Amino acid sequence: MIKIDGSFGEGGGQILRSSLTLSMLTNQPFQIKNIRANRKKPGLLRQHLTAVKAAATISGAKVEGDFLTSTTLTFSPKEIESGEFTFKVGSAGSCMLVLQTILPALMFQDQSSKVYLEGGTHNPMAPPFDFLKKSFLPILEKMGISVHMEIQRTGFYPAGGGQVCVSIAPFKKLSQVSILNFGQVLQIKPKVFHANLPFHIVQRELSTIRKKLSLDFDDRDSIQECKSIGPGNVVEIEVTTDQISQSFYGFSFHGTKAEHVAQDCIDQVKYYLEEKVPIGEHLCDQLIIPMVYAKGSFVSSKLSKHTKTNIEVVQHFMDVNIELEELDNDQVLLTFQ
Ligand code: AMP
Repeated sequence: MIKIDGSFGEGGGQILRSSLTLSMLTNQPFQIKNIRANRKKPGLLRQHLTAVKAAATISGAKVEGDFLTSTTLTFSPKEIESGEFTFKVGSAGSCMLVLQTILPALMFQDQSSKVYLEGGTHNPMAPPFDFLKKSFLPILEKMGISVHMEIQRTGFYPAGGGQVCVSIAPFKKLSQVSILNFGQVLQIKPKVFHANLPFHIVQRELSTIRKKLSLDFDDRDSIQECKSIGPGNVVEIEVTTDQISQSFYGFSFHGTKAEHVAQDCIDQVKYYLEEKVPIGEHLCDQLIIPMVYAKGSFVSSKLSKHTKTNIEVVQHFMDVNIELEELDNDQVLLTFQ
């Protein structure tokens, strides 16, 4: 039985999610203790419990310790079965993180799957639906993996209630991926997602982006009124280069000024454009598991705690060689052999 200490490195939910994913993919049982020990509310929250139950459903796993606030879990998977599944977080917790757990397991099967998810779709501290669709899936596509995502209802914090449908095509053959250069910027495209809030918020966010990034765009293409059970507002700026597309987000909380929400997103975009690394921080940690299978290499910025932790989790389950070469300007070349 593989033993994982959930308090090591980043000490959050990702250690649990990556362990579940790798346990299913390598068909090895594991036990994790100190789940989310470095978080304010340690143990399994609704979102993590849903990820555990989703992983158990698709892999027929025997599980112990799968209850709210649990800090120890034992997970013994059987075979992964493709099919049609519905997983509901039942709170505003991110259902995109549930998808992060089960997608690698389902995308390597020779049968198609359809997954209906309910919960938060645009949460802070989690990949928003649009990030996965616009930034993450195109890289899976380069690997030869075809996944399609549609959103029926947006789940903003704190009301949640988003609805997403994910279609995963049968797996055929993997291609190596090489993303080494930043390339030429082709487009910088803002979009403001909003629901049930005064419209001046959207206008102020767009005018902040227009001014601070000296961008010229049509407001009509940059506003997305969302179907949602609660109010919500998220600013997205998508940077497309001739290599890759990467989107950045500013999240509105009650009491945050619209200008600050836009500015948070603008700062991330400016940093990305100045740093000129092809793979940003979030894509980097999310690509570790797919890259272990697809092989190849990419250049990212100084490795985040999430990335380092994910690499360590992989090494508990598999004997893989992930080479890290420090380049100039704090950039790192990651090679998966
Ligand atoms: P954890 O903090 O361990 O629950 O992991 C959070 C996950 O969400 C990591 O895979 C992060 O890369 C991802 N994430 C957090 N914020 C963003 C963001 N703004 N855009 C994309 N992914 C994000």
